[in-house]
Amino acid sequence: MNRHMVKWLMVIAFFIFPLSGYAHSGNSAVPVFGPNLRVGILTNQHSLEVSADAKFAIVSTGTAKVLGDFAAQEPVTIAVRESGFTVNGRPVEATGLAVVMNKAHSTVYSEQYLYANKRRYRGDLSIQRTIGKPGMTVINTLPVEQYLYGVIKNEISPEWPMEAVKAQAVAARTYALANSNKHTADGFELCATTDCQVYGGRESEAPKAIKAVDATRGLVLTYKGKLISAYFHSSSGGYTENSENVWSAKQPYLRGVADFDQNSPYYTWEEKLTLAELDQAISKAGYNIGYLQAVELSPLSSPPVASFDRGVSGRVKSVYFKGTTGNIQLTGTQLRNMLNLKSTLFDITISKEHPQPAMSVYASKDRKKSHTQLAAGKPTDFVVITGFGWGHGLGLSQWGAKAMAEKAPPGNTEYFKDILKHYYQDVEIKKAY
Ligand SMILES: [Zn+2]
Repeated sequence: MNRHMVKWLMVIAFFIFPLSGYAHSGNSAVPVFGPNLRVGILTNQHSLEVSADAKFAIVSTGTAKVLGDFAAQEPVTIAVRESGFTVNGRPVEATGLAVVMNKAHSTVYSEQYLYANKRRYRGDLSIQRTIGKPGMTVINTLPVEQYLYGVIKNEISPEWPMEAVKAQAVAARTYALANSNKHTADGFELCATTDCQVYGGRESEAPKAIKAVDATRGLVLTYKGKLISAYFHSSSGGYTENSENVWSAKQPYLRGVADFDQNSPYYTWEEKLTLAELDQAISKAGYNIGYLQAVELSPLSSPPVASFDRGVSGRVKSVYFKGTTGNIQLTGTQLRNMLNLKSTLFDITISKEHPQPAMSVYASKDRKKSHTQLAAGKPTDFVVITGFGWGHGLGLSQWGAKAMAEKAPPGNTEYFKDILKHYYQDVEIKKAY
């Protein structure tokens, strides 16, 4: 075995038994950056370009065999073929590949990165065949804390008050740890899209997001000792909702509470469509009710709301459409998806005339009682949907958290806990590691 091979074997051993994220404290290894997460950053890719900031190798993950050595910054094209892969067009037999960098400093603080399609990533990169599809899946393995560095900016502005960004960091960390089995069938733990949390690697980090993650390192939300489903959304429209009224099971910590998002740009919104367009949307969604004759929905009132067809915040649980050839009952979420609405917190009115712009009607930002009504008329009549908030309305409201943080006592660096305990009822904030 020559010296060259010994060196790479050491690098491979480092890859197989990664020390990244661990610092030695006494005799036991303490995971400073938390446990490793396997994030599926790309799926079903036919071809991929990888590189690294230092000399690197492409290694077979099954046999640990080095399939090619490359210089720093050298672009390498990997593609799938019927069996195995190609590396710069040359066929290689392997069940999976790893991009292994010969780092100058083998610590997590190193500013040397791996690249996938020209984006930089911390941690390790590996490539496997996409399960059930013809392409490749690229997996970025890295400690939870470093994963969060690349998540926060996609979920909230790091320029918002620090206590709000810290509250978001704790919610995102809890979400990541509680959902680490979500993509087991795909061969990784979390995906990098809105399906889980949007993760963009080093390119989507920001100094203030890193500061918020570091300031809350290891902190998670628990209820009766278990990680909670830490749902969050942009803006509730004045009041958050009980979980069972949206789409998930009843959770004692996901209760509707007053929100402080009145300065959110999404606090009120309006969608207008003609009756003919609504008829078309209903039929396109597969419901055959002919021409719409009436809409049954109780009028929106101030929360807490106690209507049978609305949740505690006023979010629509069900709405009834009567047509010339049939009737349908839709959930608020079904109607939201059908018409691409920002939330399920809305009123519906039908107007014979061209409606006034939303902001002149709702300039006071107060909820106004509207008509129950709604006998439909001509196809050219307008259906006006007046809504509040953006998102499902469960758990933390980001615009509300921002407003709370703006009013936090100056210098109180624990205020993010007050924010979290407002939006998640009766939870504990604990250090997971
Ligand atoms: Zn996902």
